[in-house]
Amino acid sequence: MTGSTAPDRRRFLTAGAAVLGAAASAQLWLPQAARAAETPLPDGVFSLGVASGDPLPEAVVLWTRLAPDPLNGGGMPDRAVPVEWEIAEDERFGKPVRRGVAQARPEYGHSVHVDARGLRPGRAYWYRFRAGGQLSPTGRTRTAPHPHSKGGALRIALASCQNWQHGWFTPYADMLAQDPDVVLFVGDYVYESTPSSSGPRRHEGTGEPYTLVQYRNRYAQYRTDPDLAAMHANAPWVVTFDDHEVDNDFAGEIPQDPDKQTPDAFRARLTAAYQAYYEHMPVRAAQIPDGPHIRMYRRFEYGRLARLNVLDTRQYRSDQVTGQEAAKDPALTMLGAAQRKWLLDSLHGSPARWNLVASQIMMAETDILPGEGKQWYYDAWDGYQAERNRFLTEFRQVRNPVVLSGDRHLTMISDLKEDFADPASRVVGAEFVGTSISSNGDQDQAAFHAQWDPLKADNPHWRFIDAHRGYHLFDIDRHGIDAQVRVVDTVRAPAATASTQAALRVEAGRPGVELA
Ligand code: FE
Ligand code: CA
Repeated sequence: MTGSTAPDRRRFLTAGAAVLGAAASAQLWLPQAARAAETPLPDGVFSLGVASGDPLPEAVVLWTRLAPDPLNGGGMPDRAVPVEWEIAEDERFGKPVRRGVAQARPEYGHSVHVDARGLRPGRAYWYRFRAGGQLSPTGRTRTAPHPHSKGGALRIALASCQNWQHGWFTPYADMLAQDPDVVLFVGDYVYESTPSSSGPRRHEGTGEPYTLVQYRNRYAQYRTDPDLAAMHANAPWVVTFDDHEVDNDFAGEIPQDPDKQTPDAFRARLTAAYQAYYEHMPVRAAQIPDGPHIRMYRRFEYGRLARLNVLDTRQYRSDQVTGQEAAKDPALTMLGAAQRKWLLDSLHGSPARWNLVASQIMMAETDILPGEGKQWYYDAWDGYQAERNRFLTEFRQVRNPVVLSGDRHLTMISDLKEDFADPASRVVGAEFVGTSISSNGDQDQAAFHAQWDPLKADNPHWRFIDAHRGYHLFDIDRHGIDAQVRVVDTVRAPAATASTQAALRVEAGRPGVELA
């Protein structure tokens, strides 16, 4: 077992339910006169809870959205509302360090994004909001370590793909118990699919979302999942989106079905989807969308231990190809020129021991044609061979590159090879495809292995594959990464039992990954 690699880790763990329930009795901090002057708001403005994200050594983003009627546009009056915020060094707010007043504006769905600065590196903080005399749940967050810190331990949880209709988000209950320093979410936070009665839960609304209000309602529904809400309230998240936050398999401004969605209609849909995404995520003002564009690729430092490059593999990509030969076209791009240069500079200029790349979609090869010849999925990096292969070549010069991805709704843990066409080529890194929180629901494991095990001979770089729902947990220090595939027995019920399906290790200085 590998869960105890960091015995000195501080444990501030508080059960999510207790945190959510503690708000009512907490002391207020506005002067009496100012409170009396407030206009009352509808009850339950904090129905969507609180969140934090994009931690820096001295700052973290604090989030909430006032929504007393979350599934019907929010239910707030059509005016800006002042929201007090406070961040403290202790859970009881006896040692407050920053306070302020933010405006929850109707233009942003009455969301609030506070970039709380002046904090100390590498420690826990607690925060809360107050509006209209109502107090939010208390959230807990954590800053990144001092930029020059060399040692230490970092615990990252990797999550993706939470389809409301496929199940409850039970893996987050276990994730909360594991107390990660940061949650990395690599896409499919919501699904745009039409409500269906065939699964354990049903989407709100009457069809796919297209307008801003429709996307807001979809995000709001997802945030009412109790395990998701508690995880947001207990650790900072670093997020990026994939396709289902907008439209299945879209590429840049090209929809899945260009014959049905005209260019102007799809640009309007992108604009609505990105705005709702910004409104519901704990990200900085740099991520405020500009119409049908949003800047999501960015990076985070965990001292000298780890640099985390967060990619955007959706907005700048060429349209998907439809054949093996076409996938080799060197003109195809996944990242676009600017992001590609940014990533290469970031990898080569990194002072960090570990260089992590958060990619929405899988980088290692998936050959689904048994025996002679190959057949790839063209939406993943396999469909953009030339650019992928260039990165794999560059990885030889990068210190300890590890790719963390999603999309597949499976656990696939691979050695990254310099050239997947050459079985003898060298291993240059490791990749973890972190299954899904709920998407695809409870899978028949025997059927999965009957289908996929015969493909192992075609994909000798795979080190572990699995079809349980869950997430991956990484304990990182300067010597290595201990990874656990944490799985649940069900997402068809609100509560589940979690376990470690596999433990793996990446050794610093030795590319690739091994079963522990
Ligand atoms: Fe997905
Ligand atoms: Ca083959």
